[in-house]
Amino acid sequence: MIPGGRLVVLGKQGAGKGTQCVRLSHHYIVPHISTGDMLRASVKAKTTLGLEARRYMDAGELIPDEIVLKMVGERLDQDDTRTRGFVLDGFPRTVAQAQGLEELLAPTELDLAIDLEVPTELVLTRLASRRVCEDCGTIYSTTQRPSVDWICDICGGEVVQREDDTEEAIRRRLDLYETETAPLIEWYSTDGKLVQIPGVGHPDEVFDRIVSEIESRRQAGGFGPPMRGEASPS
Ligand code: AMP
Repeated sequence: MIPGGRLVVLGKQGAGKGTQCVRLSHHYIVPHISTGDMLRASVKAKTTLGLEARRYMDAGELIPDEIVLKMVGERLDQDDTRTRGFVLDGFPRTVAQAQGLEELLAPTELDLAIDLEVPTELVLTRLASRRVCEDCGTIYSTTQRPSVDWICDICGGEVVQREDDTEEAIRRRLDLYETETAPLIEWYSTDGKLVQIPGVGHPDEVFDRIVSEIESRRQAGGFGPPMRGEASPS
């Protein structure tokens, strides 16, 4: 049976988190939980959460921790995450969120935090050319377009530039990454849960690097207590 896992993927905006999280989710058969995608869906559906979240998102600001923690808590409480685990994309983004995640997971714990390392100059270029399907979130770019105009190959949705991929909002998000999210690298490293993976290169190569780290950690017994329904190692 394919083992699950409780994984977090960290990295600057444009480091390739979304692309790698989709692959990890398929490979390990675990749900891909992207807080950005969940928030964008709420904005689109004009829910109370969406209406509140929108003003933060358009400005490149972070949504308050308690709002995001509540949203993630509800998602982690569902059966699929309890039995298989998850790959978290874009969460946690602050130390308070990482602490909240620990509480949400207790008595189980996170297995691994994967930090995708990419130089800032490269993410700026990637973000400027990034295009995203409005419906399913599939990521394209001006150099890797869908086969038909700007129609998504996967779901037929419209492929557009994200509203927060403006130069000003990108700069704000990168600043916030340094002040709020980068401290998580130290946090998870102290906990012995961090692996740093070079995020430069073809997505297939980056993915192979990640899987090989996960598997060597798993074999070394670095994964946490069993998930619901999983036998304890004897
Ligand atoms: P992303 O798609 O991960 O780049 O997220 C897009 C926007 O959603 C961010 O710029 C924030 O405004 C908001 N957001 C997503 N995840 C979080 C989070 N964990 N904490 C706070 N805000 C978030």
